[in-house]
Amino acid sequence: MKFLADSMLGRLAKWLRILGFDTAYSSAWDDAAVVRTARAEGRMILTRDRAMALRRGIQVFLVKSDEVEEQVQEVVAGLGLSTADSFSRCPECNGILQAVEKAEIRDLVPPYVFSTQRSFHRCPDCGRIYWRGTHLQRMLEKLELLEQSLAQNQRRE
Ligand SMILES: [Zn+2]
Repeated sequence: MKFLADSMLGRLAKWLRILGFDTAYSSAWDDAAVVRTARAEGRMILTRDRAMALRRGIQVFLVKSDEVEEQVQEVVAGLGLSTADSFSRCPECNGILQAVEKAEIRDLVPPYVFSTQRSFHRCPDCGRIYWRGTHLQRMLEKLELLEQSLAQNQRRE
C-alpha cells in the first residue's frame, strides 16, 4: 500500500516512512497536485480535509487527530498495517535505505559515532546516513510506546 500525505501531514509522512511505508509528501503540493500525483502513482491520500475525503475517483483515508502519534495509530490500526519493515526508508525523502559497511562511512560520521555504533544505513537518494544510536533512538522509543498502545487497543477490541 502506497500513501501520499497532504501538505498538512508532513510529520505523519515522516513517521510512516520510519515505519517502512512508501509515503509521498511535499509541502508545496496544493489539492490539485495531491490528487494528480496520487492518481498517477496509485497512492492512497491521507488528509484531515473532509472535502478532500469526499472526492470521487481517489482512495482517501480521513485522519481525525491533530496529534501525530495518534495519527500514526489511526492509519496503522485503521488499515491493519504491519510495522515489520520499520527503519527501511529514509524519513526525509522516502528513499529505501541500504546497509553500508562501516569502512565506507568512516569519514562521513563523527569519530565517536564511528567507534560506538556497529550498523549504518545510507539513503541512496539523498545520501543521509542513519544509525540507531542517536538519530533514531528517540523514534525507536516512541515506536515501542506506539506498538504497546496498539497492542493494548487490539486487546480491548
Ligand atoms: Zn533520503
